[in-house]
Amino acid sequence: MKDEIFDITIVGAGPVGLYATYYAGLRDMKAKLIDALPQLGGQLTALYPEKFIYDVAGFPKILAKDLAENLISQAMQYEPTVCLSEKIVNLEKIEGGNILKLTSESGSVHLSKSVVLTLGIGAFVPRKLDIPDVQRLEGRGIHYIIKDKSIFKGKNILIVGGGDSAVDWALNLEGIAKNITLIHRRDVFKAHEDSLKKLLNSTVHVKTFYELKRVHGDEHVEGATIFDNRNGEETYLEVEHIILSLGFLANLEFIQGWGLEIDKNAIKVNSKMETNIPGIYAAGDIAGYFGKLKLISTGFGEAAIAVNSAKNYIDPSSKFFPGHSSDFVPKKIKPG
Ligand SMILES: Cc1cc2nc3c(=O)[nH]c(=O)nc-3n(C[C@H](O)[C@H](O)[C@H](O)COP(=O)(O)OP(=O)(O)OC[C@H]3O[C@@H](n4cnc5c(N)ncnc54)[C@H](O)[C@@H]3O)c2cc1C
Repeated sequence: MKDEIFDITIVGAGPVGLYATYYAGLRDMKAKLIDALPQLGGQLTALYPEKFIYDVAGFPKILAKDLAENLISQAMQYEPTVCLSEKIVNLEKIEGGNILKLTSESGSVHLSKSVVLTLGIGAFVPRKLDIPDVQRLEGRGIHYIIKDKSIFKGKNILIVGGGDSAVDWALNLEGIAKNITLIHRRDVFKAHEDSLKKLLNSTVHVKTFYELKRVHGDEHVEGATIFDNRNGEETYLEVEHIILSLGFLANLEFIQGWGLEIDKNAIKVNSKMETNIPGIYAAGDIAGYFGKLKLISTGFGEAAIAVNSAKNYIDPSSKFFPGHSSDFVPKKIKPG
């Protein structure tokens, strides 16, 4: 219904927003979940659906898209209202400060007593390289995001980057691709120590101090020229695919005018996940505090805290501690 006031509105349907939505249902809050993308799952479905995740409690190994699927079915148990393809561009207080008004790019308005911002890294814009022919061959051998691992079967691949994404893709494609070379412009990697150890023990050819100079191919990538940045020496590699894992540029410009305290591309929160504006909370990658770890597992805990804080804010007579989930089995789920 138009102008319906929700108890809680969660902006951002990544893993953390989905878990917050589940938690809002658990706390019997009328919840709305909004995302700018046409699908749920955030980075899990948009950036690396086919990658394995090893560090989510309870799952020794799970594909990102399967984790997203599980989170979606958990979140949907309490039948929240879901609005997709809606980028929120404004958030302000109305009616004496008790109601929060969210406005999307298309002009739709959402009203809520509390808001949890789980915006992740904001709009996903992959960092690109200004190198001849890279742009022309995007989608024809040049990749920033991998949606289907099978296209690399039996192929020669070059991966560029030294962070988690580059190293994880190299490891995930080992055994699928015929040959993998990973180049990094320095000899210091930003990837997890454990992944790096696995990489150095793998069949991946790791070349440090190397950068991409040129991409070759008419209709599709056929090769790449890389160079040693210490002496300029060039090497030609016959590759059909080049994965540019250079990170993503966080586009969070849209939150600048919302009156929130921002520090280093993150919304500042306290230990209750409260922002500087009462009724507005943040969790997941977007939330910043001393000691922050940008991981899914940390985000889950933050989501639980944010939602319980919001519950207590809109109904001060309610307890902050939610009790145990087995006390709140949704009607649709039969206790096992
Ligand atoms: C390649 C790669 C591998 C990774 N591997 C791991 C791993 O193994 N383990 C791990 O713990 N973490 C990993 N991460 C990090 C992990 O994906 C993030 O920590 C996690 O996705 C953060 O979840 P989130 O819900 O906070 O944000 P996101 O997943 O970024 O979701 C945020 C959502 O908010 C939406 N949004 C943003 N702005 C707006 C707006 N204005 N209006 C509406 N919607 C908006 C976005 O569209 C997005 O769907 C990896 C990341 C990458 C890139």
